[in-house]
Amino acid sequence: MAEKKGGVSLIWQISIGFIAGIVFGRMASPQVVGYVAPLGSIFMALLNMLIVPLVLSSLVVGVASLGDLKALGRIGVKTVVLYLLTTAAAIAIGLALGNIMQPGAGMDLALAKATEAKAAPSLGQVLTNMFPKNAFAAMVNANMLQIIVFALFFGVALTMAGEKGKPALAFFDSMAEVMYKMTAIVMKFAPYGVFALIAGTVSKYGMAVLLPFAKVIGAVYIGCIIHAVVIYSGLVTAFARKSPMWFFRGIKEASLTAFVTRSSAGTLPVTMECCHNMGVPEKVSSFVLPLGATINMDGTALYQGVCALFIAQAYGIPLNLSAQLGILLTATLGSIGTAGVPGAGLIMLTLVTTQAGLPIEGVAMIAGIDAILDMIRTSLNITGDAAVATVVARTEGADFTEVE
Ligand code: ASP
Repeated sequence: MAEKKGGVSLIWQISIGFIAGIVFGRMASPQVVGYVAPLGSIFMALLNMLIVPLVLSSLVVGVASLGDLKALGRIGVKTVVLYLLTTAAAIAIGLALGNIMQPGAGMDLALAKATEAKAAPSLGQVLTNMFPKNAFAAMVNANMLQIIVFALFFGVALTMAGEKGKPALAFFDSMAEVMYKMTAIVMKFAPYGVFALIAGTVSKYGMAVLLPFAKVIGAVYIGCIIHAVVIYSGLVTAFARKSPMWFFRGIKEASLTAFVTRSSAGTLPVTMECCHNMGVPEKVSSFVLPLGATINMDGTALYQGVCALFIAQAYGIPLNLSAQLGILLTATLGSIGTAGVPGAGLIMLTLVTTQAGLPIEGVAMIAGIDAILDMIRTSLNITGDAAVATVVARTEGADFTEVE
């Protein structure tokens, strides 16, 4: 990924695209900005095109290379525990900042109508939905959890099949390599895609729209930065025994791609490529990262905490400690159920707010600026997946490589 073209490394090209996009989005008329929009859409489509074959092939190979089921169970438990703990920490940071910064104070909005409670899916339902009735349908619909379940079974069966399974393994091994190459090719297009995506966002949101929400935007951004600097740096230093600089340098292309695409799922190929370059073995990354792109959403969780308090304060509804603990619980579960696509967190916010007895109109208020919040939370979401991947990799004996 650190490949150079004409002497300029890819991350520089992407950064130039990013800054040029901001300038262009500010200066050019919305109509002119609209002309370059297809570049952004094509970039997103290309990334999405990679996901299913990449996840399937690398996970099958990853599981097959584990050798035994015990290792799979061990990695699974470590991953899920770390994902839950980091998510709970993220909401706690969000709630703390919401209490300290009081982003909704002084907005004095009156309630228009009573809210209707929305039902969260039951745990049983969530578990049942993880098992595909049709493996191909799961792939066609890019249902990540179902693809993960199928690939896990397939990888295990492949190992059990012994000699007869070898050709299938060779096929997926080769396919995974090809998919990594394809990711590298698509990333060459990233500077242009990033340029168009960020230009579109900048052109759409002027200061007049953002200013009344400056505090809530500030709280979400500050919270995400604190979470990355404190929690991820801490995890990487303490458990992966690498410096935070090493980690953030290694993951930068993915963090930036997530920021502009606002999609964890779409960024997954880039996250996998970055972790690959950092020396995270495939047996870990092929499982931890697709799972993380689907269920681990620290940024989304943090945003739910800040926004719930923002809405409560804007409508003058007091939220006591037990109500806030309730938010912590619903937001953790909610972030697990959030799809890694743009704007999914906003839908989940309706669930968190209704469960906390807050007005749904508050969510409509957030909707106007959600894309701005989506950028940073998605970036944090995938950075969190990578941090956990490095920790799990180290505990499974990985040696890391130096990254540029
Ligand atoms: N866009 C986020 C993601 O893909 C989800 C969200 O809307 O919070 O990770």
